[in-house]
Amino acid sequence: MPVRVATFLLAGARQVGAVDLDSRTVAPFALPAGQAAEGVLSLIEAVETGPIMPRTLSSIPLSEVELEAPIPLPRRNIFCVGKNYREHAHEFARSGFDSSAAAGAVPKFPIIFSKLPETVVPTRADVLIDPSVSTAIDYEGELAVIIGKGGRAIPPERALEHVFGYTIANDVTARDLQGRYSQWLIGKSQDTFCPMGPWVATRDAFDIGSAAIRCFVNDDLRQHAPISLLIFDIPTVISTLSQGITLKAGDIIATGTPVGVGIGFDPPRYLKAGDVVRVEIDGIGTLENRFAERA
Ligand code: MG
Repeated sequence: MPVRVATFLLAGARQVGAVDLDSRTVAPFALPAGQAAEGVLSLIEAVETGPIMPRTLSSIPLSEVELEAPIPLPRRNIFCVGKNYREHAHEFARSGFDSSAAAGAVPKFPIIFSKLPETVVPTRADVLIDPSVSTAIDYEGELAVIIGKGGRAIPPERALEHVFGYTIANDVTARDLQGRYSQWLIGKSQDTFCPMGPWVATRDAFDIGSAAIRCFVNDDLRQHAPISLLIFDIPTVISTLSQGITLKAGDIIATGTPVGVGIGFDPPRYLKAGDVVRVEIDGIGTLENRFAERA
């Protein structure tokens, strides 16, 4: 299994390939015509159902392709974990926007919400701000898990066997909408509010125990935490979700954001048009998006 897998456009056609960071190239997988339509999910399904990994074709410089999100349009909503780092849980509870705060700052069980599939945009794409809808746009750098093998009632000790790999997500949030509606879906699912990428690091290539996440706004470091600080770790989240929901190949779980979001400041530091948010995770790469006012 390659270390990093990307979805990209070359001459207008979607392909899936293995990224080589040393040579800055990507080698497309020989998937049957039309089978790259769902990006990395096409590869996951080929690996799950086929006898062997598809072979790769000649490498192309990364500079000649346009990266897409690993799964450009997920088949169903993205599962997200809320308040899954202790210090962030406290900063959010203090902010006044937490409609779940009455239950305590630090949750006893995972808080799960979702974002619509259409929110996904790739690295380098604009995230659109519509000031007539929200004036409180915030960033949340997060590790995202991509499920490989589906399942139901997955025990924690088997959960990582169901992971295909990991990518980076920015769980962009309209705080005013999140606070106004007790369910978070509207505030979390505004168009373009889920940048994801730049590619997937396969499970055996990513060390949850040692990786850190960093999030910058215009080169100002706002979030910096080891992934190991998650309150509910990845096996716990997968096991919890799958108790009564059958997880499927290609399901995405955004695992939560650490302390340092815009509402953690007094006064809050919301995003404005022209801001660039960059999220880095060791062993995966960098997800970078500019925020722009909707025309
Ligand atoms: Mg989040």
